[in-house]
Amino acid sequence: MSKVLSAVAWPYANGPRHIGHVAGFGVPSDVFSRYMRMAGHDVLMVSGTDEHGTPILVAADEQGVSPKELADKNNRVIVEDLAGLGLSYDLFTRTTTPNHYAVAQEMFTTVHANGYMVEQTTSGAISPSTGRTLPDRYIEGTCPICGYAGARGDQCDNCGNQLDATELVNPHSKINGETPVFVETQHFFLDLPALAEALGEWLDEREASGTWRPNVIKFSQNILKDIRPRAMTRDIDWGIPIPLDGWRDQPKRLYVWFDAVIGYLSASIEWARRTGKPEAWRDWWNDTDALSYYFMGKDNITFHSQIWPAELLAYDGLGDKGGKPGPYGVLQLPTEVVSSEFLTMEGKQFSSSRGVVIYVRDILERYQPDALRYFISAAGPENQDSDFTWAEFVKRTNGELVAGWGNLVNRTATMIHRSFGQIPAAAELNADDKALLATVNEGFATVGALIERHRQKQAIGEIMRVVAEVNKYVTDQAPFKLKADDERERLGTILHVLAQAVSDCTTMLSPFLPHSCNQVHLAMGGQGVIAPMPRIDEVDDLDGGDGYPIITGDYTATPRWESRPITAGTPIPKPFPIFTKLDPSVVDEELERLKPETDDE
Ligand SMILES: [Zn+2]
Repeated sequence: MSKVLSAVAWPYANGPRHIGHVAGFGVPSDVFSRYMRMAGHDVLMVSGTDEHGTPILVAADEQGVSPKELADKNNRVIVEDLAGLGLSYDLFTRTTTPNHYAVAQEMFTTVHANGYMVEQTTSGAISPSTGRTLPDRYIEGTCPICGYAGARGDQCDNCGNQLDATELVNPHSKINGETPVFVETQHFFLDLPALAEALGEWLDEREASGTWRPNVIKFSQNILKDIRPRAMTRDIDWGIPIPLDGWRDQPKRLYVWFDAVIGYLSASIEWARRTGKPEAWRDWWNDTDALSYYFMGKDNITFHSQIWPAELLAYDGLGDKGGKPGPYGVLQLPTEVVSSEFLTMEGKQFSSSRGVVIYVRDILERYQPDALRYFISAAGPENQDSDFTWAEFVKRTNGELVAGWGNLVNRTATMIHRSFGQIPAAAELNADDKALLATVNEGFATVGALIERHRQKQAIGEIMRVVAEVNKYVTDQAPFKLKADDERERLGTILHVLAQAVSDCTTMLSPFLPHSCNQVHLAMGGQGVIAPMPRIDEVDDLDGGDGYPIITGDYTATPRWESRPITAGTPIPKPFPIFTKLDPSVVDEELERLKPETDDE
């Protein structure tokens, strides 16, 4: 049993999240965390909303509200959506808390004291027409590395490289098209070259572990070849102040990505403080045996396999310049950066302005959350880009979830309820019965190993293969034909075997489909829940700031990842519907809804 940190990418609070977002970081991290709890590990799953940076400032300006008001609104929407999907965070918080500010400033202070935060004169962009600072993200141009025409001043979304606005070919303002003027400004740069050797050793060691997805480790090693100091402060007045004399009162703040990745640590510390054991977070961060898994979409690999580990190495004093760790002690680097590819929609990139979007909220209002969770698990962008289409969503929901698994549960519960009213005892098992139970039981080892290696698509495919075997057993054994008195003992045995198979499949499916597995658990005579669910708490800030909603939960009732023998005599209630079959007309209705909106993604 290990301490396992499940560090889930922080959704950006400039608007509601669409299903492409939760396909990348949300559902896969929840499946993994739920499974690891069942496997007996002590999981700490943390995240929150990322609320600083230029896009929030610009969006707030447009809406005539303060950035904090905008962040408050979107934080709440995102909290409700992620809880509605059943994502089992121990703490989902936000970056505008005094706790996060203090942790981010402590990281900066120690990294600076260790010599890895270097002051440099750099070039900042000004809008000639307004005289205001033009943030990097609002400058577009051609990427000097890959030639992509829509690269931003901070990053190229095509090749994933970080950029400086001054490097762009033909730079222009995204706001009004004008060419920016560059002026001199002072900033702090993270001395990445002084950390390159330590980063390289860490990546080599991770590669040798053989657990990372090959494209993620290759990308990470590649960007190390062109490593340069990166600005970790910005000309902006929305964000965390720079904790140094002479800098605090300037209109400069910590770079949003410098602070966002620190959220994994600050959320762990906040979780510990809220549980009344303020040092408990150290078990996941200082202990060299602790494991940490970071979940994100591929556009964020750089920040998790270079910037964040570099911040940690600099804090620990483990780069070329030496140094010593601050009060948090030696902080452990990621065990694994688990990155997914992109989800497109109806063949196009998600874009609210072009009408190519489906928000999590819309899905939750119109469909069962597990229908989306099933689609993402079975057909999501795990190791290659994948496409969400409404036709495929309806096909998978009806053909696999309802006709495969739902039908098995329904007919098993119905036959037992009608024939016995309770789970019957088994007489002697024949070879077919034993073979089926063995097939189902083998699933625990096979499926568990696949989830542990982040092969969730294969894992759920394997469970659905087992479900198909159980359905075939029903067809072959034909219990519905056993009506005579002298066939009643055999009927009881078959239904007992089926009840055991359904129970085991429910256990295996519960990390993927927690809502419906809790229903199946009740339908098969169980008590309580098999998949503990998150809840939203309205909490006071720990340090006197404004209160806010968090996602948290008590997951101690999570059962072990193993077969649990069913008990003959357990009453089976009158069957009730669990899965909703979708009318094919859903496809046209939803395509009709995809009308362009005005705000851009
Ligand atoms: Zn590029």
